Amino acid sequence: MTDYDTRKLQCHCCGKTSEHSVLMSSNSFGSRDLDQRPPKMYRWTIASWLQECPYCGYVAPSIDKGDAKARSFLDTAEFRAASLDPAPDPVSRRFLVRAAQHAYDGERRSAFLSTLSAAWVADDSNRPSDAAALRLRAAGHLEGPRITSIDTRLLLLVPGIRA
Ligand SMILES: [Zn+2]
Repeated sequence: MTDYDTRKLQCHCCGKTSEHSVLMSSNSFGSRDLDQRPPKMYRWTIASWLQECPYCGYVAPSIDKGDAKARSFLDTAEFRAASLDPAPDPVSRRFLVRAAQHAYDGERRSAFLSTLSAAWVADDSNRPSDAAALRLRAAGHLEGPRITSIDTRLLLLVPGIRA
């Protein structure tokens, strides 16, 4: 049983009010997929996992909640880049904005998981090449700070080239 309710929410960042479909309950009975995706019944609700303020673009599980960091993130180039991401659907894009915020806060695992959720959206709408690209982006969030780029590592492996 999945139940939605329309709520008027006041944005934590800009203070403006907008209507959002809020998930009231969901039967998540079932086993997780091998890659830890939530069971189908719950995954159908993925579009409601994040809300977006139509005025300032703030993305959060509940846009009426947040902290001071959430407000300051909206002033960053990272936020603007993520908001303009050419993701093929609004649900994926919301996850990418959320991932950018986590990455900005230094929460790499959360950034990874948000990007992976965007890949699940692509999976479930039968866009395997988008999903594959998003999984690569997700993996990028897990790279250690020591490794700056794959190009850099390849350069170190090629004989005859001195860094
Ligand atoms: Zn707002």
